[in-house]
Amino acid sequence: MADDDCIFCKIVAGELPVQKVEEDEHTISFMDINPWTRGHALVIPREHTRNLYEAPEETLHRTSVAAQRLALRMRDRLGCDGVNLLNSCEPAAWQTVFHYHVHVIPRYDDDPLELPGKPQEVESDELAKIAEELRGA
Ligand code: AMP
Ligand code: ZN
Repeated sequence: MADDDCIFCKIVAGELPVQKVEEDEHTISFMDINPWTRGHALVIPREHTRNLYEAPEETLHRTSVAAQRLALRMRDRLGCDGVNLLNSCEPAAWQTVFHYHVHVIPRYDDDPLELPGKPQEVESDELAKIAEELRGA
């Protein structure tokens, strides 16, 4: 069901103009309005779903496959040297638009993007404890 307050549902409905790149029965790919690098695009499912927590399995599958198609276009048409896929789930993880989407960000050897986090050292006991919290049903 479309959400009346959702800007990406408006894009799906054709009510907000975007630079569309590709679409299929279940997804639309278009240019991000505030790109991090040249060619930064988004893949969204046509069906409204809030984010990774709530997306049905087939939505995750379809958007990932569309993101792969887009990454290959970026490699072949824009000549990028690599691609980052990014998904943000909830505000704590930087989500600002609450309609599931995947960022497909072409990367260039000389682009200015930097890793947003610093790898931390962790004790092996602590790692084992966290794994135990996550394991099992
Ligand atoms: P996130 O912050 O991960 O939820 O990503 C939302 C993304 O949507 C941001 O990168 C915005 O620049 C992008 N965005 C928001 N509105 C539009 C729009 N009307 N057309 C294209 N991209 C948009
Ligand atoms: Zn929506």
